[in-house]
Amino acid sequence: MPKKQVDLIIKNASELATPYDRNQKPLVGKQMQALRIIKNAALAVSDGKIIGVGKTSSVTSTFTATETIDAKGKTVIPGFVDAHTHLVFAGSREKEFETRLKGASYMEILREGGGILKTVMETRQATEDELIHNCQKTLDIMLKHGTTTVEAKSGYGLTTKDEAKCLRAIKQASKSHPVDVVPTFLGAHAIPPEFEEDAENYVDLVIEEMIPSIANAKLAEFCDVFCEEGAFTVEQTKRILQTALKHGLTPKVHADELTPYGGAELAAEMRAISAEHLQYASDAGLKMMSKHRVIAVLLPTASFTLMTQRYAEARKMIDLNIPIALGTDFNPSCWTESQQLVIAMACRQLRLTPAEALTAATLNAAHAVNRAAKTGSLEEGKNADILILDVPNHSFLGYRFGTNLVRQVLKDGKLVVDVE
Ligand SMILES: [Zn+2]
Repeated sequence: MPKKQVDLIIKNASELATPYDRNQKPLVGKQMQALRIIKNAALAVSDGKIIGVGKTSSVTSTFTATETIDAKGKTVIPGFVDAHTHLVFAGSREKEFETRLKGASYMEILREGGGILKTVMETRQATEDELIHNCQKTLDIMLKHGTTTVEAKSGYGLTTKDEAKCLRAIKQASKSHPVDVVPTFLGAHAIPPEFEEDAENYVDLVIEEMIPSIANAKLAEFCDVFCEEGAFTVEQTKRILQTALKHGLTPKVHADELTPYGGAELAAEMRAISAEHLQYASDAGLKMMSKHRVIAVLLPTASFTLMTQRYAEARKMIDLNIPIALGTDFNPSCWTESQQLVIAMACRQLRLTPAEALTAATLNAAHAVNRAAKTGSLEEGKNADILILDVPNHSFLGYRFGTNLVRQVLKDGKLVVDVE
């Protein structure tokens, strides 16, 4: 039998580790831990897709390639999917960071006109080109740290015009960058200052004007709401998400981040694809999420940056068969582009094993952004979104932290990062 010609073979990897799809559903319970692990592994890529995975001897006896990467001593895993970011904004908040270090709370800063509102002012003033440039800069760093697909929320415009500007910037940045960007409309991120006394009227604006125009222009796939005391009530969140559904946007909820507020319950009731944050989610809410298989998108770096010591109860969620995904919560007050840091924190603060954290940062995160059919695991037929790490096995994920373990990144089969 002549060997089949392919574009690329990665061979001799000390280990290949990947979660794998079972019935196209997010992984729960013990499935999150059960990686497919191949020692002395190889992988064949053609036309941007994975077409063979196995032992080096078997892959190299079936395929011959134009290009070969020798991954001796290294670990091959799927590209990370970052399931929760606020990718698009202008400015920064390093001064506020110092105020927070002295003890000011998130809500105190917000009431003083800082926090989200400062970023809203700077984002409104920015041009679309400036925002595109900012997004691309961030995507470059994310890619170098192994993220090949990222969810991106709007939410620093808070007018119809500025929300559309932010979502167009996300779309443009995505077009000219290897990282796949999945857009989420988060017009209900904060009550803008001009509606301070008048939250209901802002909700009406979101419902009557923003959602229809964003959906019409096909600028978003998901609609998220910051359901929280001082932001949007459960009732307002529900009205917004019902409208989003009518316009073909899939619901997500920023739920129970700062107080137990009923966000997890609402996410389940609305059949949201995901509830995100969840540091204060109630037991009743978690049970409802489990019943309706709502994905818990957990963001340990958000707790870290808030300095609350309050982390989501991930072990309880795994016991309840709630699928867990991970994200950076990249935003001006939680400025990290690295899913590797998130994994390190997920291991220590959420007590996930490296294998569970890998599943949460790849396949389950892909499910949370509706991309699992294409990416999130190293399986035949999926996009060749692949990382080569300079460690001998996947247990080094989270164990070593604070430096970048990524040596090569392949996106759709193309070598887009090469540190060697
Ligand atoms: Zn967020």
